[in-house]
Amino acid sequence: MAGILSAIKLREAGYTDVTVYEKADRLGGTWRENTYPGIACDVPSHLYTYTFAPNPEWSHAFAPGPEILAYFQNVASRYGIDQLIRYGNEVRRLEHDGSRWCLETSTGERDEADVVIAATGVLHHPRYPDIGGLDDFAGNIFHSARWDHSVPLEDARIGVIGTGSSAVQITGALTDRVGEFHLFQRTPQWVLPVDNPPISDADRARYRADRGLMTKLRTDLNTGFIQSFANAVVDADSPALQMLQKAARANLEDKVSDPGLREKLRPEYRAGCKRLIISPNFYDAIQRPNARLVTERIDRVEADGVRTADGELHRLDVLVLATGFRVDRFLRPIEVIGRNGVRLDDIWGQRPFAYLSVTVPDFPNLFLLNGPNGPVGNFSLIDVAEAQFAYLLQLIELLRGGECRQISASRDATARFEAQRVEAAKKTVWVTGCHSWYLDERGIPAAWPWSFTRFEEAMARPELADYLLV
Ligand code: NAP
Repeated sequence: MAGILSAIKLREAGYTDVTVYEKADRLGGTWRENTYPGIACDVPSHLYTYTFAPNPEWSHAFAPGPEILAYFQNVASRYGIDQLIRYGNEVRRLEHDGSRWCLETSTGERDEADVVIAATGVLHHPRYPDIGGLDDFAGNIFHSARWDHSVPLEDARIGVIGTGSSAVQITGALTDRVGEFHLFQRTPQWVLPVDNPPISDADRARYRADRGLMTKLRTDLNTGFIQSFANAVVDADSPALQMLQKAARANLEDKVSDPGLREKLRPEYRAGCKRLIISPNFYDAIQRPNARLVTERIDRVEADGVRTADGELHRLDVLVLATGFRVDRFLRPIEVIGRNGVRLDDIWGQRPFAYLSVTVPDFPNLFLLNGPNGPVGNFSLIDVAEAQFAYLLQLIELLRGGECRQISASRDATARFEAQRVEAAKKTVWVTGCHSWYLDERGIPAAWPWSFTRFEEAMARPELADYLLV
């Protein structure tokens, strides 16, 4: 998403020498890699689109994954971007030689670039759980982001480990298709009952005929999303957050009839602390007769299934690890060597950081989209990438204008930003008593802790005093 965006915007700005490196044999990022049953986006379709490429054809209020993938493929081809992509070329090494970036790829290809934009995504590297015996399992086992579609599911005994957004969508899509469904829950989740109605043919025809309608719809969705959710989570005391809590609690009370199951599904932390789950059918699915919520701790995996701490063996044919992602990787494992031999892996040794989440001191002309500590948890990543790109383009224009040859954030400005960010994070709902992928190893949210308005203001114009221009 961010790579296609960058190429489109660079070309629009008149940059003709643009190459996109892609490790896979086709584009699509997260929507190419995540193909599990039930995959959809929890940002409304008409908001989860580039502002410059509205899509009148969205089938549902929240689009299914394959449709989103098709949208990106369509936009890339419409703008001629697929012609710029070097597929099957994983960037392995980036070294700044004092004037340019020297790049090496998995095919042995070398290239040089004045500017590098890392549009490598966030939820990218599957996290495999630290559970003994995974290799002993005799059935089929795979991560949710590596779904093996050759494995038959009909009548099979399926186990899913995890209760994040991925596991909840898989549960909603699979329980009525499989023989038995075992959901291994370590931590319950708050779930909002957001419906996903189809968009009618008549509405799609209206959008096709009047682009302004889609622009208005996007604006309205954006305003609603920001007010009801995005700005709420960064203020743990906000009334909007209390309303979300109320709605999630009512959903649990209304939808789950068995008191024992209801208590097992009831989180002990506040709604929004972990990524809030939206699902029209999770509670229905987990109450089907062939579904079982397992809350006993997993002891180990054995050839025949999952053994829980109470000694029970849950016999399975398929085990799905919906256990999330390593969220501190960003452009790594690319070996990135900046000014004077500084290695990104070394300076990010404890945890990744970046000034305003877009540039790193000592790495001139290297720009990050959806980089460390950005607004990952509360905004549409498309809007985030668009705002970040508009900001970066202003820096790139300084290079084109000859005002400098190299630009990178100063260490002072980066340290100041980090200190302010850590302080502001104390007010967010993410630190109100849960464990989640938003938190770094210190328990501090690795995310933008302010409002979306503040993000847009920060991205409006670079503060050049915070940069080192060479
Ligand atoms: P996730 O939110 O990180 O969830 C991972 C799950 O695995 C958690 O329930 C976690 O339990 C569990 N887990 C991890 N290790 C375990 C272990 N050793 N034993 C037992 N359970 C274990 O991952 P995800 O569901 O893939 O979602 C990641 C993010 O991707 C989401 O937050 C969202 O931002 C994005 N996403 C979005 C959508 C959407 O748009 N609808 C769909 C999928 C993903 P604990 O909670 O106890 O840690």
